[in-house]
Amino acid sequence: MSQYDTPIHYESFADYPVYDGSDLEVNYTRAKTTFKLWSPDSDDVKIRIYRDCESAIPIESRNMQKKDDGIWEYSFSGDLKGRFYTFQIFFNGEWLPETPGAYATAVGANGKRAAVVDFRDTDPDGWENDRRPIRKSFCDSIIYELHIRDFSMSPDSGIKNKGKYLAFTEEGTVNSHGQKTGIDHLEELGITHVHIMPAYDFATIDELKPEENRYNWGYDPLNYNVPEGSYSTNPRNPCTRIREFKQMVQALHKKGISVVMDVVYNHTYMWENSNFTRTAPGYYYRQYPDGTYGNASGCGNETASEREMVRRYIINSILLWAKEYHIDGFRFDLMGIYDIETMKQIRAALDTVDPSILMYGEGWTGGDSPLPYEQRAVKAHVNMMDGVAAFSDDLRDALKGNWGNIHEPGFVCGRQGYDETVKFGVTGATKHPQIHYGLVNYSNAPYANSPAQVVNYVSCHDDLCLNDKLAISAPGGSSESDMIRYNLLAQTIVLTSQGIPFLYAGEELMRSKKGVHNTYQSPDSINQLYYDNKYAYKHVFEYYKNLIALRKAHPAFRMDNREMMDNHLHFLDPRQACVVAFILDNNANGDSWNRILVVYNGNRHNIGLEIPKENWWVACNGSQISQKGLFKWNNDYLNVPANSAMILFKP
Ligand code: CA
Repeated sequence: MSQYDTPIHYESFADYPVYDGSDLEVNYTRAKTTFKLWSPDSDDVKIRIYRDCESAIPIESRNMQKKDDGIWEYSFSGDLKGRFYTFQIFFNGEWLPETPGAYATAVGANGKRAAVVDFRDTDPDGWENDRRPIRKSFCDSIIYELHIRDFSMSPDSGIKNKGKYLAFTEEGTVNSHGQKTGIDHLEELGITHVHIMPAYDFATIDELKPEENRYNWGYDPLNYNVPEGSYSTNPRNPCTRIREFKQMVQALHKKGISVVMDVVYNHTYMWENSNFTRTAPGYYYRQYPDGTYGNASGCGNETASEREMVRRYIINSILLWAKEYHIDGFRFDLMGIYDIETMKQIRAALDTVDPSILMYGEGWTGGDSPLPYEQRAVKAHVNMMDGVAAFSDDLRDALKGNWGNIHEPGFVCGRQGYDETVKFGVTGATKHPQIHYGLVNYSNAPYANSPAQVVNYVSCHDDLCLNDKLAISAPGGSSESDMIRYNLLAQTIVLTSQGIPFLYAGEELMRSKKGVHNTYQSPDSINQLYYDNKYAYKHVFEYYKNLIALRKAHPAFRMDNREMMDNHLHFLDPRQACVVAFILDNNANGDSWNRILVVYNGNRHNIGLEIPKENWWVACNGSQISQKGLFKWNNDYLNVPANSAMILFKP
């Protein structure tokens, strides 16, 4: 129980008035600045104006006026541009600490005070001509999950603005062997979307001590509507982080790469002193009937997306990032904490901006929640949320073994029992007549209406990265070349499955995080991408690049509806365990190839497989990929190397 578990002047949080306007926080013109705070349950509110973000004494301090709908308002005449401000509410008999307000769109160092800025001052040159890359189908996406520091910190990146947004603006950078790094590396690899790990303002890095070089993933939200300051070259200047974030987006867009933002509206770093608590105590968080705070995030609190002003808050914040920052997609951390209706309303709001904007998330929670299961935006409910996708932990763990049991190997290392789950991945978690759903690892029924509702992957920032998981779980005696085969087989399955493929940055460079599971605050030496690996593992990088190019060139791998898959995707009976084989036929989805045969052999030995006799060409032999064809094959059987994929086609 806490002092913020129930409203003071209302029967319940549900009775709080709803404010319809979109002008909360600050409205700036050169002649006048109006501040508005939604704080229905407070008895008094002060607005303070400061000269800068650190001075102790305000230059103005006024009591705001109470208006309808829970609003407190105050206008200052004159030009306040460049000034900082805070709100302070009198609640339940005491003045709470000052806050920049939950809706602040510009802040000073460490996000303690908000700033009055003219957003047109924050636009980089040419921003008015920045356009999001055109995407026809969600399934055309190839997502690459990247942390801003990981991208550039290593000395072999050749990048000057290490750990900063501006690292993305540096072209022509190379590693010790003259190979492309940084944004040129991303372009060369061919991915379509960079998914940036949290880059809104988070709490645990002291922005005024960059020399400490501290690292954090950023799942500790402070100010949702502001870029993180430690990634900017000057966190004290509120415009700098905004401009440099936009420069990052602009640089990626110039390369034809879309930008996904990882958003974490499901919890705040702390609840006691959050901006939510300091403006409307209790309201933004879910409680159990006894007043205990919900903890489905595992971080001590969870937000109450089903409450009207929380839902509006989330929608307006997402619209800000989509419109002001030109963000092309959103990844929802622990999406199961959100209610289904909120996710649907976010989708509808984004559709008014651009229906090609991606939405996907983790279809689970990190613990139990006061929100009833039937309302949660979990994986099993994505079929109720058109245009929203969920990560397939089914396929992920089938490929590399259970995430929690680090010693358990998966399909790619020859573990039996996962074949139906691999097939479930191939069909994008949709209903297909050739799958025994009772044998799928975590889902006993298809959950996606279309492959556009599933994100297929084998690794992400959480838990062991792919090579570390393989190193710990692979059968004894596995050599480095075996490890490479396991890795390539796993990603070939991800990229030839129907759905939205997702890669964790650096897997194409044989990334290792030295066996550390959750590197959320590990040093750069563990987290950063080592670009010199591109030379040591040149053939691995080439395989990834060619695999991505293959998927992009062949729409048969990108069918975005179930009916098309029913007609064009058929599994073969391999008559042996740990083998999955299927044919994509009749120029599926307008493909230039008439028939495509894909075989995954997870066994640690070569296999022979009966196949339809055709004038096949081999496009992938497990270690090399060529869209022109490596060699011809017109037998009714196929030899497939151990732990390898083969792809054959009939032109
Ligand atoms: Ca921060």
